[in-house]
Amino acid sequence: MTDSSTGWQNWSGSQRHAATVRYPRSVDDVQALVTRAVAAGRQVRAVGTGHSFVPFWTDDAIVSLDHFAGVHAVDLSRAEATIGAGTKLHDLGPLLWAQGLSLPQQGDIDRQSIAGAIGTGTHGTGKSLQSLSNLVRSMRLVTADGRLRELHHERDADLLAAACVAQGTCGIMLDVTLALAPAFNLHERTWECGYDECAERWVELVNTNRHFEFFWTPATDRCDMKVLNRTDAGPARLGESEYIAPAWEAFPSDRDIRFNEMEYSVPYADGWACFVALRERFLKDFPRLPWPIEFRTLAADDLPLSTAQGRDTITLSVHQGAERDWRPVFEAAEAIFRTFDGRPHWGKLHSLRAADVAALYPRFDDFRSARTTLDPSGVFLNDYLRRLLVG
Ligand SMILES: Cc1cc2nc3c(=O)[nH]c(=O)nc-3n(C[C@H](O)[C@H](O)[C@H](O)COP(=O)(O)OP(=O)(O)OC[C@H]3O[C@@H](n4cnc5c(N)ncnc54)[C@H](O)[C@@H]3O)c2cc1C
Repeated sequence: MTDSSTGWQNWSGSQRHAATVRYPRSVDDVQALVTRAVAAGRQVRAVGTGHSFVPFWTDDAIVSLDHFAGVHAVDLSRAEATIGAGTKLHDLGPLLWAQGLSLPQQGDIDRQSIAGAIGTGTHGTGKSLQSLSNLVRSMRLVTADGRLRELHHERDADLLAAACVAQGTCGIMLDVTLALAPAFNLHERTWECGYDECAERWVELVNTNRHFEFFWTPATDRCDMKVLNRTDAGPARLGESEYIAPAWEAFPSDRDIRFNEMEYSVPYADGWACFVALRERFLKDFPRLPWPIEFRTLAADDLPLSTAQGRDTITLSVHQGAERDWRPVFEAAEAIFRTFDGRPHWGKLHSLRAADVAALYPRFDDFRSARTTLDPSGVFLNDYLRRLLVG
């Protein structure tokens, strides 16, 4: 085990801790860490790359699985691979590509760890595509009793479904076996247009592209549109805003300027109305905001705490520069999201408590029952998560 005691902060700088970050090198290290914390009544919180904005962590113990990285096994007949929990998505892409495999979808960036991305239901865009958490076929994790457990999608369906979108509250993941796609290239095209054109075309673009999203910016009242589609053609630059590349290269973008973010998922049928309400409010109250609202689609699934549980979804994200107070913009947006039965992205800022979660998630009790089975003492809960998931 190695330690780093220089303190820790997340990507946006919104969360800071003095805790020593522990870097276990073996399963024994992880088990010893958890067992000691339970005995001492201290909290243990896993960290990926800290690309979440919410207070997931603790001054007690922060555990990084950086040494549990890489592709451990590949089953090409099933298009599955077993991947270390601390593997960064930007490393995973080329590793899978070398095996003839790709993640079927990815989000805007590839800086996250696979365990961190799974733990918050990280997603990309696509009407028929679910979040990365839905790819998990099995998971090995150390639970609160210090045991190494393997949860399998057939044998332990309920526990695994809960542990996938668990925000680190069901145990410390060591590795996951994921259902993947044969390696594929993507053809990306981007363009800018006015709000009216976007309003007229978004349904057609959602229905005719594997991936469609747009970013609407209050300060310009214009939309940056983006479509991505699978292609058998090889990598090529086709123009200033059009190219073909391996999926792992095409999915992510650079995000060099730090920001904070709130994202809510609303039922697909209400997504446009919710966006229109946000646009009206932002043009009235934040007309010079240079940060966009991002509009994406996500297919329904059945993971208890997935924001798309039981419903096709539109996700809407709002942003504010990391150096600015995010409250005015995010509080205005959240009031609108809540009127559309919005469910917050677990890695992004929100103000929900357990009673709100219970009202929004029909399978919340399934999650709670699985979590208490895997962590009866609450060693993986901090105060924030206790308020959110226990009440
Ligand atoms: C610039 C930027 C762009 C983003 N783009 C998208 C996007 O396109 N789509 C989207 O859905 N989200 C997006 N996000 C959010 C991001 O994907 C999630 O917050 C994700 O959880 C971050 O992964 P991470 O590795 O940094 O995990 P962290 O933020 O470090 O941790 C996230 C959660 O996972 C848990 N965890 C981490 N490792 C383990 C482990 N080994 N065992 C158990 N639990 C663990 C943590 O305890 C925590 O609860 C973005 C965030 C940023 C900053």
